[in-house]
Amino acid sequence: MGNVPTAVKHCLSYQHLLKDQIWISDATSPPEQESYAAGLPQHVKIVEVGPRDGLQNEQTFVPTDVKIELINRLSEAGLPAIEVTSFVSSRWVPQMSDHTEVMQSIKKYPGVRYPVLTPNIQGFNSAIAAGATEVSVFGAASQSFSERNINCSIEESMKKFEDVVKAACNLSLPVRGYVSCALGCPYEGDIAAPKVAEVSKRLYSMGCYEVSLGDTIGVGTPGSMRTMLDAVMKEVPVSSLAVHCHDTYGQALANILTAMEMGVSVVDCAVAGLGGCPYANGATGNVATEDVIYMLNGMGIHTGVNLHKVMEAGNFICSALNKKTNSKVAQASFVPQNEIYALHD
Ligand SMILES: [Zn+2]
Repeated sequence: MGNVPTAVKHCLSYQHLLKDQIWISDATSPPEQESYAAGLPQHVKIVEVGPRDGLQNEQTFVPTDVKIELINRLSEAGLPAIEVTSFVSSRWVPQMSDHTEVMQSIKKYPGVRYPVLTPNIQGFNSAIAAGATEVSVFGAASQSFSERNINCSIEESMKKFEDVVKAACNLSLPVRGYVSCALGCPYEGDIAAPKVAEVSKRLYSMGCYEVSLGDTIGVGTPGSMRTMLDAVMKEVPVSSLAVHCHDTYGQALANILTAMEMGVSVVDCAVAGLGGCPYANGATGNVATEDVIYMLNGMGIHTGVNLHKVMEAGNFICSALNKKTNSKVAQASFVPQNEIYALHD
Protein backbone atom coordinates (compact mmCIF):
# COMPACT_ATOMS: atom_id res chain seq x y z
CA MET A 1 0.00 0.00 0.00
CA GLY A 2 2.98 2.29 -0.24
CA ASN A 3 2.94 5.22 2.14
CA VAL A 4 -0.80 5.78 2.15
CA PRO A 5 -1.79 6.59 5.72
CA THR A 6 -3.84 3.86 7.36
CA ALA A 7 -6.74 6.23 8.09
CA VAL A 8 -6.99 7.21 4.44
CA LYS A 9 -6.75 3.59 3.37
CA HIS A 10 -9.60 2.60 5.65
CA CYS A 11 -11.85 5.39 4.45
CA LEU A 12 -11.64 4.23 0.85
CA SER A 13 -14.52 2.17 -0.34
CA TYR A 14 -13.77 -1.01 -2.22
CA GLN A 15 -15.09 0.27 -5.54
CA HIS A 16 -13.40 3.62 -5.12
CA LEU A 17 -10.12 1.98 -4.38
CA LEU A 18 -10.37 -0.42 -7.27
CA LYS A 19 -11.15 2.28 -9.77
CA ASP A 20 -9.17 5.28 -8.70
CA GLN A 21 -6.04 4.30 -6.88
CA ILE A 22 -2.83 4.44 -8.80
CA TRP A 23 -1.26 1.53 -6.98
CA ILE A 24 -3.70 -0.80 -8.66
CA SER A 25 -3.15 0.06 -12.28
CA ASP A 26 -5.42 -1.00 -15.09
CA ALA A 27 -3.81 -4.22 -16.16
CA THR A 28 -5.49 -4.21 -19.54
CA SER A 29 -3.50 -1.23 -20.73
CA PRO A 30 0.09 -1.87 -21.78
CA PRO A 31 2.71 -1.18 -19.15
CA GLU A 32 4.13 2.29 -19.40
CA GLN A 33 7.45 1.62 -17.79
CA GLU A 34 10.15 -0.74 -18.92
CA SER A 35 10.46 -4.08 -17.20
CA TYR A 36 11.78 -4.01 -13.67
CA ALA A 37 15.16 -5.40 -14.61
CA ALA A 38 16.95 -6.68 -17.66
CA GLY A 39 16.64 -10.41 -18.03
CA LEU A 40 13.10 -10.66 -16.74
CA PRO A 41 10.41 -11.77 -19.16
CA GLN A 42 8.39 -8.98 -20.81
CA HIS A 43 5.27 -11.10 -20.73
CA VAL A 44 4.17 -13.72 -18.20
CA LYS A 45 1.44 -16.25 -18.87
CA ILE A 46 -0.78 -16.76 -15.85
CA VAL A 47 -2.37 -20.20 -15.52
CA GLU A 48 -5.37 -19.94 -13.20
CA VAL A 49 -5.78 -23.13 -11.18
CA GLY A 50 -8.34 -21.98 -8.61
CA PRO A 51 -11.41 -23.78 -10.00
CA ARG A 52 -9.61 -27.15 -9.91
CA ASP A 53 -6.61 -27.10 -7.58
CA GLY A 54 -8.35 -24.63 -5.27
CA LEU A 55 -11.89 -25.90 -5.09
CA GLN A 56 -11.02 -29.60 -4.95
CA ASN A 57 -9.79 -29.04 -1.41
CA GLU A 58 -13.08 -27.57 -0.20
CA GLN A 59 -14.74 -29.89 2.30
CA THR A 60 -18.32 -29.11 1.35
CA PHE A 61 -19.55 -29.45 -2.19
CA VAL A 62 -19.40 -26.18 -4.10
CA PRO A 63 -22.58 -25.84 -6.19
CA THR A 64 -22.00 -26.43 -9.89
CA ASP A 65 -23.46 -23.06 -10.88
CA VAL A 66 -20.98 -21.31 -8.55
CA LYS A 67 -18.07 -23.12 -10.22
CA ILE A 68 -19.38 -22.15 -13.66
CA GLU A 69 -19.89 -18.52 -12.66
CA LEU A 70 -16.38 -18.37 -11.18
CA ILE A 71 -14.80 -19.71 -14.36
CA ASN A 72 -16.81 -17.32 -16.54
CA ARG A 73 -15.68 -14.39 -14.38
CA LEU A 74 -12.06 -15.51 -14.64
CA SER A 75 -12.36 -15.76 -18.43
CA GLU A 76 -13.84 -12.27 -18.45
CA ALA A 77 -10.79 -11.05 -16.50
CA GLY A 78 -8.50 -11.96 -19.39
CA LEU A 79 -6.76 -15.00 -17.93
CA PRO A 80 -5.22 -16.92 -20.83
CA ALA A 81 -5.53 -20.40 -19.27
CA ILE A 82 -7.97 -21.65 -16.66
CA GLU A 83 -7.83 -25.17 -15.28
CA VAL A 84 -11.48 -26.06 -15.16
CA THR A 85 -11.95 -29.34 -13.33
CA SER A 86 -10.63 -32.83 -12.87
CA PHE A 87 -11.88 -35.98 -14.55
CA VAL A 88 -11.07 -38.22 -11.61
CA SER A 89 -13.31 -40.85 -10.09
CA SER A 90 -16.12 -39.19 -8.12
CA ARG A 91 -15.41 -41.69 -5.34
CA TRP A 92 -11.94 -40.21 -4.89
CA VAL A 93 -12.77 -36.54 -5.35
CA PRO A 94 -16.52 -35.95 -4.89
CA GLN A 95 -15.95 -32.19 -5.24
CA MET A 96 -15.14 -32.69 -8.93
CA SER A 97 -18.02 -35.11 -9.65
CA ASP A 98 -19.77 -32.43 -11.72
CA HIS A 99 -16.81 -32.22 -14.14
CA THR A 100 -18.86 -32.96 -17.26
CA GLU A 101 -21.52 -30.37 -16.49
CA VAL A 102 -18.94 -27.72 -15.60
CA MET A 103 -16.91 -28.38 -18.74
CA GLN A 104 -19.98 -28.25 -20.94
CA SER A 105 -21.61 -25.22 -19.34
CA ILE A 106 -18.80 -22.69 -19.07
CA LYS A 107 -18.57 -19.99 -21.68
CA LYS A 108 -15.53 -20.70 -23.84
CA TYR A 109 -13.83 -17.43 -24.60
CA PRO A 110 -11.82 -17.25 -27.81
CA GLY A 111 -8.10 -17.44 -27.12
CA VAL A 112 -8.56 -18.86 -23.60
CA ARG A 113 -7.36 -22.39 -22.89
CA TYR A 114 -9.39 -24.61 -20.59
CA PRO A 115 -7.25 -27.59 -19.53
CA VAL A 116 -8.72 -30.34 -17.34
CA LEU A 117 -6.89 -32.86 -15.19
CA THR A 118 -6.99 -36.43 -16.51
CA PRO A 119 -5.09 -38.91 -14.33
CA ASN A 120 -5.69 -41.89 -16.63
CA ILE A 121 -7.16 -42.95 -19.93
CA GLN A 122 -10.69 -43.34 -18.53
CA GLY A 123 -10.57 -39.76 -17.30
CA PHE A 124 -9.17 -38.66 -20.63
CA ASN A 125 -12.00 -40.30 -22.56
CA SER A 126 -14.62 -38.67 -20.33
CA ALA A 127 -12.89 -35.31 -20.71
CA ILE A 128 -12.91 -35.57 -24.49
CA ALA A 129 -16.57 -36.60 -24.46
CA ALA A 130 -17.29 -33.46 -22.43
CA GLY A 131 -15.52 -31.30 -25.01
CA ALA A 132 -12.08 -30.77 -23.44
CA THR A 133 -9.44 -29.50 -25.86
CA GLU A 134 -6.46 -29.60 -23.50
CA VAL A 135 -5.60 -31.97 -20.66
CA SER A 136 -3.13 -32.16 -17.78
CA VAL A 137 -1.45 -35.05 -16.02
CA PHE A 138 -0.34 -34.81 -12.40
CA GLY A 139 2.84 -36.58 -11.33
CA ALA A 140 5.15 -36.25 -8.34
CA ALA A 141 8.86 -36.05 -7.69
CA SER A 142 8.34 -37.92 -4.42
CA GLN A 143 7.68 -41.66 -4.35
CA SER A 144 5.74 -41.53 -1.07
CA PHE A 145 3.59 -38.63 -2.22
CA SER A 146 2.84 -40.39 -5.49
CA GLU A 147 1.77 -43.54 -3.66
CA ARG A 148 -0.46 -41.73 -1.21
CA ASN A 149 -1.84 -39.03 -3.49
CA ILE A 150 -2.35 -40.84 -6.77
CA ASN A 151 -2.16 -44.39 -5.47
CA CYS A 152 0.72 -45.63 -7.55
CA SER A 153 4.48 -45.41 -7.79
CA ILE A 154 6.12 -42.71 -9.91
CA GLU A 155 6.93 -45.35 -12.52
CA GLU A 156 3.34 -46.65 -12.63
CA SER A 157 2.00 -43.10 -12.90
CA MET A 158 4.29 -42.40 -15.86
CA LYS A 159 2.92 -45.47 -17.67
CA LYS A 160 -0.63 -44.16 -17.21
CA PHE A 161 0.40 -40.72 -18.42
CA GLU A 162 2.04 -42.21 -21.51
CA ASP A 163 -1.35 -43.66 -22.47
CA VAL A 164 -3.01 -40.28 -21.95
CA VAL A 165 -0.34 -38.38 -23.88
CA LYS A 166 -0.46 -40.87 -26.75
CA ALA A 167 -4.25 -40.61 -26.97
CA ALA A 168 -4.05 -36.81 -26.82
CA CYS A 169 -1.38 -36.71 -29.53
CA ASN A 170 -3.62 -38.80 -31.77
CA LEU A 171 -6.23 -36.07 -31.45
CA SER A 172 -3.60 -33.31 -31.69
CA LEU A 173 -4.49 -32.09 -28.20
CA PRO A 174 -1.88 -30.42 -26.00
CA VAL A 175 -0.99 -31.99 -22.65
CA ARG A 176 0.39 -30.15 -19.64
CA GLY A 177 2.40 -32.04 -17.02
CA TYR A 178 2.66 -31.34 -13.30
CA VAL A 179 5.49 -32.34 -11.02
CA SER A 180 4.29 -32.00 -7.45
CA CYS A 181 6.60 -31.88 -4.40
CA ALA A 182 9.31 -30.24 -6.51
CA LEU A 183 10.65 -28.35 -3.48
CA GLY A 184 9.70 -30.68 -0.66
CA CYS A 185 7.42 -33.52 0.36
CA PRO A 186 5.23 -33.90 3.46
CA TYR A 187 6.50 -37.48 3.91
CA GLU A 188 10.07 -37.42 2.61
CA GLY A 189 11.14 -33.86 3.43
CA ASP A 190 13.67 -32.47 0.97
CA ILE A 191 13.47 -33.74 -2.58
CA ALA A 192 16.72 -33.96 -4.52
CA ALA A 193 16.79 -31.59 -7.49
CA PRO A 194 18.02 -34.35 -9.89
CA LYS A 195 14.88 -36.35 -9.04
CA VAL A 196 12.69 -33.38 -10.04
CA ALA A 197 14.74 -33.02 -13.22
CA GLU A 198 14.32 -36.71 -14.03
CA VAL A 199 10.52 -36.67 -13.67
CA SER A 200 10.28 -33.37 -15.58
CA LYS A 201 12.37 -34.76 -18.42
CA ARG A 202 10.16 -37.85 -18.55
CA LEU A 203 6.99 -35.75 -18.89
CA TYR A 204 8.55 -33.44 -21.45
CA SER A 205 9.97 -36.33 -23.49
CA MET A 206 6.64 -38.13 -23.62
CA GLY A 207 5.08 -35.03 -25.19
CA CYS A 208 3.94 -32.59 -22.49
CA TYR A 209 4.32 -29.12 -24.02
CA GLU A 210 4.68 -27.52 -20.60
CA VAL A 211 5.88 -28.88 -17.26
CA SER A 212 4.63 -27.15 -14.14
CA LEU A 213 6.93 -27.48 -11.14
CA GLY A 214 4.83 -27.52 -8.00
CA ASP A 215 5.87 -26.51 -4.52
CA THR A 216 2.82 -28.39 -3.29
CA ILE A 217 3.38 -27.71 0.39
CA GLY A 218 4.93 -24.27 0.03
CA VAL A 219 8.21 -24.97 1.81
CA GLY A 220 10.55 -23.73 -0.92
CA THR A 221 12.72 -20.64 -0.75
CA PRO A 222 14.45 -18.66 -3.49
CA GLY A 223 17.52 -20.76 -2.66
CA SER A 224 15.87 -24.14 -3.19
CA MET A 225 13.94 -22.81 -6.20
CA ARG A 226 17.21 -21.79 -7.84
CA THR A 227 18.88 -25.15 -7.14
CA MET A 228 15.88 -27.08 -8.42
CA LEU A 229 15.51 -24.97 -11.59
CA ASP A 230 19.23 -25.21 -12.31
CA ALA A 231 18.85 -28.99 -12.44
CA VAL A 232 15.57 -29.05 -14.37
CA MET A 233 16.69 -26.51 -16.96
CA LYS A 234 19.47 -28.90 -17.99
CA GLU A 235 16.79 -31.34 -19.12
CA VAL A 236 13.81 -29.21 -20.20
CA PRO A 237 13.95 -25.88 -22.08
CA VAL A 238 13.01 -23.03 -19.77
CA SER A 239 10.37 -21.88 -22.28
CA SER A 240 8.47 -25.10 -21.47
CA LEU A 241 8.58 -24.67 -17.70
CA ALA A 242 6.04 -23.20 -15.31
CA VAL A 243 6.18 -22.70 -11.57
CA HIS A 244 3.34 -23.52 -9.20
CA CYS A 245 3.94 -22.09 -5.75
CA HIS A 246 1.95 -22.45 -2.57
CA ASP A 247 2.37 -19.78 0.06
CA THR A 248 2.50 -21.87 3.24
CA TYR A 249 5.75 -20.30 4.46
CA GLY A 250 5.11 -16.92 2.83
CA GLN A 251 7.76 -17.50 0.17
CA ALA A 252 5.63 -17.78 -2.96
CA LEU A 253 6.18 -14.34 -4.50
CA ALA A 254 9.91 -14.44 -3.78
CA ASN A 255 10.08 -17.91 -5.33
CA ILE A 256 8.18 -16.77 -8.41
CA LEU A 257 10.45 -13.75 -8.82
CA THR A 258 13.48 -16.04 -8.58
CA ALA A 259 12.03 -18.32 -11.25
CA MET A 260 11.37 -15.31 -13.51
CA GLU A 261 14.96 -14.15 -13.05
CA MET A 262 15.98 -17.56 -14.33
CA GLY A 263 13.78 -17.17 -17.41
CA VAL A 264 10.51 -18.85 -16.41
CA SER A 265 7.56 -16.98 -17.90
CA VAL A 266 4.59 -19.16 -16.94
CA VAL A 267 3.15 -18.91 -13.43
CA ASP A 268 0.30 -20.93 -11.91
CA CYS A 269 -1.87 -19.22 -9.33
CA ALA A 270 -5.33 -19.38 -7.82
CA VAL A 271 -7.82 -16.58 -7.37
CA ALA A 272 -8.14 -15.60 -3.69
CA GLY A 273 -5.32 -18.04 -2.93
CA LEU A 274 -7.79 -20.92 -2.93
CA GLY A 275 -6.56 -24.40 -2.20
CA GLY A 276 -4.34 -26.43 0.02
CA CYS A 277 -3.29 -30.01 0.01
CA PRO A 278 -5.35 -32.71 1.73
CA TYR A 279 -2.24 -34.90 2.05
CA ALA A 280 0.00 -32.22 3.54
CA ASN A 281 -0.95 -30.94 6.96
CA GLY A 282 -1.04 -27.19 7.25
CA ALA A 283 -0.34 -26.55 3.58
CA THR A 284 -2.14 -23.36 2.69
CA GLY A 285 -3.41 -22.36 -0.68
CA ASN A 286 -1.79 -21.57 -3.96
CA VAL A 287 -0.30 -18.13 -4.33
CA ALA A 288 -3.15 -15.70 -5.00
CA THR A 289 -3.64 -14.59 -8.59
CA GLU A 290 -4.37 -11.06 -7.36
CA ASP A 291 -1.00 -10.85 -5.57
CA VAL A 292 0.97 -12.15 -8.55
CA ILE A 293 -0.76 -9.76 -10.97
CA TYR A 294 -0.18 -6.86 -8.58
CA MET A 295 3.53 -7.66 -8.42
CA LEU A 296 3.86 -8.09 -12.19
CA ASN A 297 1.93 -4.87 -12.88
CA GLY A 298 4.29 -3.05 -10.57
CA MET A 299 7.24 -4.41 -12.51
CA GLY A 300 5.82 -3.44 -15.89
CA ILE A 301 5.49 -7.08 -16.93
CA HIS A 302 2.54 -7.70 -19.21
CA THR A 303 -0.04 -10.39 -18.41
CA GLY A 304 -3.15 -9.25 -20.25
CA VAL A 305 -5.13 -9.86 -17.04
CA ASN A 306 -7.41 -7.25 -15.52
CA LEU A 307 -6.65 -7.12 -11.80
CA HIS A 308 -9.96 -5.43 -10.94
CA LYS A 309 -11.91 -8.25 -12.49
CA VAL A 310 -9.83 -10.96 -10.84
CA MET A 311 -10.47 -9.27 -7.50
CA GLU A 312 -14.17 -9.26 -8.18
CA ALA A 313 -14.03 -12.95 -9.09
CA GLY A 314 -12.15 -13.54 -5.82
CA ASN A 315 -14.77 -11.62 -3.91
CA PHE A 316 -17.48 -13.67 -5.57
CA ILE A 317 -15.99 -17.06 -4.69
CA CYS A 318 -15.08 -16.05 -1.13
CA SER A 319 -18.65 -14.87 -0.53
CA ALA A 320 -20.00 -18.11 -2.01
CA LEU A 321 -17.70 -20.19 0.20
CA ASN A 322 -18.19 -17.88 3.15
CA LYS A 323 -14.49 -17.61 3.75
CA LYS A 324 -11.83 -14.95 3.93
CA THR A 325 -9.60 -14.35 0.94
CA ASN A 326 -5.95 -15.40 1.16
CA SER A 327 -4.95 -12.63 -1.23
CA LYS A 328 -3.02 -9.89 0.55
CA VAL A 329 -3.97 -7.45 -2.21
CA ALA A 330 -7.65 -8.24 -1.77
CA GLN A 331 -7.38 -8.03 2.03
CA ALA A 332 -5.75 -4.62 1.77
CA SER A 333 -8.31 -3.35 -0.72
CA PHE A 334 -11.55 -4.62 0.72
CA VAL A 335 -12.92 -2.90 3.79
CA PRO A 336 -16.18 -4.37 5.11
CA GLN A 337 -19.01 -1.84 5.26
CA ASN A 338 -19.41 -2.09 9.04
CA GLU A 339 -15.73 -1.25 9.49
CA ILE A 340 -16.13 1.87 7.34
CA TYR A 341 -19.13 2.99 9.40
CA ALA A 342 -17.19 2.35 12.61
CA LEU A 343 -14.34 4.51 11.41
CA HIS A 344 -16.71 7.34 10.52
CA ASP A 345 -18.52 7.33 13.86
ZN1 LIG B 1 -1.41 -26.07 -6.11
